[in-house]
Amino acid sequence: MTANLHANRAVELSAFLPINTPMTDLPFWKTKTLPEMSDAEWESLCDGCGKCCLVKLEEEDTRELFVTRLHCKLFDTKTCQCKDYPNRKQYVPICVKLTPEIVATVDWLPQTCAYRLVHEGKDLHDWHHLISGDRETIHREGWSCRNKTVTEEGVDDEDIFDYVIDWFHGPTKRTRKRQLLPRK
Ligand code: SF4
Ligand code: SF4
Repeated sequence: MTANLHANRAVELSAFLPINTPMTDLPFWKTKTLPEMSDAEWESLCDGCGKCCLVKLEEEDTRELFVTRLHCKLFDTKTCQCKDYPNRKQYVPICVKLTPEIVATVDWLPQTCAYRLVHEGKDLHDWHHLISGDRETIHREGWSCRNKTVTEEGVDDEDIFDYVIDWFHGPTKRTRKRQLLPRK
């Protein structure tokens, strides 16, 4: 019944700044396809949402995907990063390294994933660090899973479904301003 799918990117701080193409002044994600990007451009594209490190379930018959708030045992929910990205395969052999080919074929990336957006010909969201200039924006505005997840370790298979979430493709908290209703 289940498939446990993982992928995440390690991103260097030095790669956060937008890299503009000299002829057009347009940022690289608007002028290049994923296969055309340099390693630095590719790495800088990851928004660090951490959603690809969540445990996912696939219904065998319908192939329907369910995503949980259980995170991979190597994920740190406070930093929203892999604890040991260079050596992760030793601990999590099924961890998937994203490539343009994988982005084009899988159905388990959030609709907000920057790789998925570029592959689909869409622009990045305004909370993406390459737009906002601040790696914290995604967390402040509730689009990452920082501090919203718990480890998969110790959770029995039959209990995993209890952790299914409805915010995989959206913000983890309400970003809409709530209206204060008058008191009676
Ligand atoms: S879902 Fe996409 S943007 Fe988010 S952490 Fe994973 S690879 Fe990066
Ligand atoms: S090994 Fe690291 S990159 Fe891979 S799913 Fe786990 S936390 Fe994410």
